[in-house]
Amino acid sequence: MPQIEESDQNRPGDRLVEDKSFRTLLDEFTSSMKRAFHTDDNIDQFCSTRGIPPAVLTELMSGNPLSLCIPKQYGGFGGNVKENIAFISAASYESLALSLTLGINNGLFIQPFAKYGNEKVKSRIFDQFLNEQHMGGLMITEPGFGSDALNMQTSFTEKDGFFHLKGKKHWAGLTGMADLWILTARKRAVHGDLMRDIDMFVCDVNAPRQKIVVEEFFENLGLYQIPYGRNSIDVYIPEEQRLIPHTSGIQMLLDMLHRSRFQFPGMGLGFIKRILDEAISHATSRSIANKSLLSYDQVQHRLTRLQANFTICSAFCLKSGEIAGIEHNLSSLGLEANIIKSVTSDIMQESAQSLLQLFGARGYQLNSIAGRSVVDSRPFQIFEGSNDILYHQIADSAMKLMKAAKEHSFYGFLKGYTTRAADRVKELVSFNLNYGFSQRKLVELGQIISRIVSMDHVLYLGEKGFRKDLTENTLIVLKQEISTLLNTFHFENNSKAIVDYNENSHWLDFS
Ligand SMILES: Cc1cc2nc3c(=O)[nH]c(=O)nc-3n(C[C@H](O)[C@H](O)[C@H](O)COP(=O)(O)OP(=O)(O)OC[C@H]3O[C@@H](n4cnc5c(N)ncnc54)[C@H](O)[C@@H]3O)c2cc1C
Repeated sequence: MPQIEESDQNRPGDRLVEDKSFRTLLDEFTSSMKRAFHTDDNIDQFCSTRGIPPAVLTELMSGNPLSLCIPKQYGGFGGNVKENIAFISAASYESLALSLTLGINNGLFIQPFAKYGNEKVKSRIFDQFLNEQHMGGLMITEPGFGSDALNMQTSFTEKDGFFHLKGKKHWAGLTGMADLWILTARKRAVHGDLMRDIDMFVCDVNAPRQKIVVEEFFENLGLYQIPYGRNSIDVYIPEEQRLIPHTSGIQMLLDMLHRSRFQFPGMGLGFIKRILDEAISHATSRSIANKSLLSYDQVQHRLTRLQANFTICSAFCLKSGEIAGIEHNLSSLGLEANIIKSVTSDIMQESAQSLLQLFGARGYQLNSIAGRSVVDSRPFQIFEGSNDILYHQIADSAMKLMKAAKEHSFYGFLKGYTTRAADRVKELVSFNLNYGFSQRKLVELGQIISRIVSMDHVLYLGEKGFRKDLTENTLIVLKQEISTLLNTFHFENNSKAIVDYNENSHWLDFS
């Protein structure tokens, strides 16, 4: 148990959330969203302008939603990962940007700080969330180091009880808006080189010598309510604001990033459910050529895929809620976390594209939920691991497991790894996998494995009692997708891009 000083207890924040049940907290938050988005201000209008109107933000924060993941002994609600997933899911039904804002605060600041923060400063930092409506975020990405984040150049040196951090960070969600940041940096050794490991520090921008200068705000394509930009870091962080790794800093970072990836389905579920509801409502009310849009077979196909995406995301939420608690070390669960993150973000984008198609031109207005959903969900395939890279890593990890088990048969591997799904796809996956695939083949293989694991999770969801008609439809949709992906995988294609392609390639010269 952490040491808690007498003065840490029974502060106003404690009273605020202690007596509430999770249901009450969630209901209050849902009501505040209704007031903020549907009465005080119309979400369809302000979503196409940047920022959040102050009255809307005040309304959204009125039930103290950021108390959810703050431990009880610091005055918070003490919510777990399962409860956070339910919360951010409720938020993303109304606004993906709001859900991501909660996701950033909870997954990228509060949870890692609760787990790795120094007890001496927890009370002071959590108090800012509870009583001053401050927010938190995480800065990893640098202009030259995004996917290659482990080679980041932000450095720190230690002197007189302070860590001096210097560098540049960009694209951190809530740039210029959050008051508290987890900054990542590498130690500069005495000979000047940067060490391999990564350390994390809490920076309080309102404290002396901890101000972060925003050099530029970006015109982000979507997620208008979240500010992004480029930051100059030149701060002095007190010793006790360094996060304390249990083993190495990189393991701590992986534990945190994997937990965040496991919580993506929370943002995905509410978002996809909203899209599904909008699609059903539109298809039911729109009549084309004297027929209800709902009666067209292609529309049925689109709606069943949306329902499959809703079901897959539900299955992921169940799984993540079971395994991603902060008491677990998730640093070695890259394969599982990467599958859940990449599939969730792919089906979010696919669902948004499908809704826009169904809405027709109406969906292409900036203030339509359909068009907005396309641009709002797109970066989920890029941040916290670009999906191209994650699928490659998924295949690599699976092949390593096969190698260790001396297993060559793909079905043999799946039988052990996806015990529920393997037999459902047996006729498709009964072949041997050899080593030495090109990267594009590994990406395709990663996508196949991810869909089979998704099938496994859906079967588990079914066993738990989820609606059978939804799970049965989803299994058909997934099997078709797996079959399509396998066809692509078996097709040899090593074509290389022709960089200087302009000569002899203009059609008009040949007409
Ligand atoms: C909306 C949004 C929110 C974000 N939020 C945060 C945040 O809160 N905190 C934070 O620190 N960062 C954040 N980021 C940054 C994000 O994590 C990075 O953009 C991401 O890691 C990719 O880095 P990059 O943009 O430098 O792209 P690059 O590293 O240049 O990669 C671009 C593309 O190149 C390809 N590629 C790269 N490497 C490989 C490879 N090895 N093999 C094959 N293909 C490859 C992939 O297609 C990849 O998508 C956010 C970004 C966006 C867009």
